[in-house]
Amino acid sequence: MSSTFRRTKIIFTLGPATESEEMLEKMIRAGADVARLNMAHAKHEWCRMVIRRIRAVSAKVGREIAIMMDIKGPEIRTGDVDHPILLEAGQIFDFTVRPGADPENGEEIRSVNVNYRDLVNDIKVGDTVLVDSGLIRLSVLEKHDTRIRCRVLTPGELKSRRHINLPGVKVNLPAFTDKDRADTLVGIEEGIDFVALSFVREGRDVEELRKFLQDNKSSAQIIAKIEDQSAILNLDDIVRATDSLMVARGDLGIECPYEDLPSIQRRAVNTCIAHGKSVIIATHMLESMITQPIPTRAEITDVANAVHERADCVMLSGETTVGKYPLDCVAVFQKVAARVEVDQVNPLPYPAHIPGDKYKLLAAAVRLADEMPNASLLTFTRRGSMSAGLAAMRPVKAPIYAMTNSVETLRKCRILRAVEPMFLELDSDPNETIEKAISLLLSAGLVKIGDTMIVATDILTNDRLVDSIQVRHVR
Ligand code: PEP
Repeated sequence: MSSTFRRTKIIFTLGPATESEEMLEKMIRAGADVARLNMAHAKHEWCRMVIRRIRAVSAKVGREIAIMMDIKGPEIRTGDVDHPILLEAGQIFDFTVRPGADPENGEEIRSVNVNYRDLVNDIKVGDTVLVDSGLIRLSVLEKHDTRIRCRVLTPGELKSRRHINLPGVKVNLPAFTDKDRADTLVGIEEGIDFVALSFVREGRDVEELRKFLQDNKSSAQIIAKIEDQSAILNLDDIVRATDSLMVARGDLGIECPYEDLPSIQRRAVNTCIAHGKSVIIATHMLESMITQPIPTRAEITDVANAVHERADCVMLSGETTVGKYPLDCVAVFQKVAARVEVDQVNPLPYPAHIPGDKYKLLAAAVRLADEMPNASLLTFTRRGSMSAGLAAMRPVKAPIYAMTNSVETLRKCRILRAVEPMFLELDSDPNETIEKAISLLLSAGLVKIGDTMIVATDILTNDRLVDSIQVRHVR
């Protein structure tokens, strides 16, 4: 059995493989929901150009997608080296915190500089240093004033400006760096929909970004990327503070024991659902498709697992920045998600527990819609909270049609599971608005005569707005 309606949303990362007008059009038509700009690699001029291009292509296609700016956050990197340094198992190697710091006693020890001044204070003898996405592994033997001395455990070639991970070390770097500020300002000027903050370690990091967005009059929503052990320790605090969460499995799989990753992912998804926050599963979902036209069986199962867990979104990175088959990747997500969702006939045992009468009403609407044959949910949303509330209740059968008169809101709804956002001018008469919405759905072929619509909306009674659930039939 298969289906084409897809509840799980698709995020793709922009790069040379997808940035052209032609490819963007194909990606949008193929069903991509959100485009991600990775600021670890992007220049400001490129960002401005590509954001404008996405907006223009979306308008041409008649399908507005959202734009996420993924800012780098605190990051430790090695400095430049003249030539790649070959590190062999058992060798001694130093990381220095001051350029040109000479080893004591005139020793001849090979070394590289790192951009993290507090490295010597924060690390302990016995800790692990991972270089270049964990490819090179070293163990800390000694600490000196301006350097740490390590033994190479896993060999490799050290090139310039490599990323360093320090598993379990509480890193004393600002959450929101000067570069992040400059990048975010460009994003705000260009009207991005989401800012994804890397290496969030606690809720306070999210608050700092939120204040920056408010101070700069941006309505962009925040996606907290969890990538290290501090984030896992503070997961509830982070989920409470953020709008959405990204399980950034690239760094997470380096910073945490890899066997913990599946449990961390499941816990993160369940925590987000419980708090009514959207959640993204990212990285290495279809990694082999960077060079191959079909996914491995393990990748198909990984995508299926994210869908089974009822994540809101799955994300593509290298697959769509430099990969040879970006459109095929979207097709794989589309097919696997739509197929796996067909099997999801039971409501979640642990749905959202959001306080407030409104959420109880939304939970009741979702239950009603799932219990009635051929039913869809319909809501009207100015800022997206009604559609986010319905998505949080994770309907298993009914799609959620979210009508909004705001293009910004429409784009923000793109990351919500099972929500199909649509633009509609809202009438001053609520009944008229409902009729217009049903006609729109009918003419788009999304509902048919005789279908049931469960309408969750506020209605005007005696000059008061009252939350309501209505059962209507498409006529
Ligand atoms: C990740 O680490 O999985 C991730 C998405 O972050 P980035 O691509 O920014 O390293």
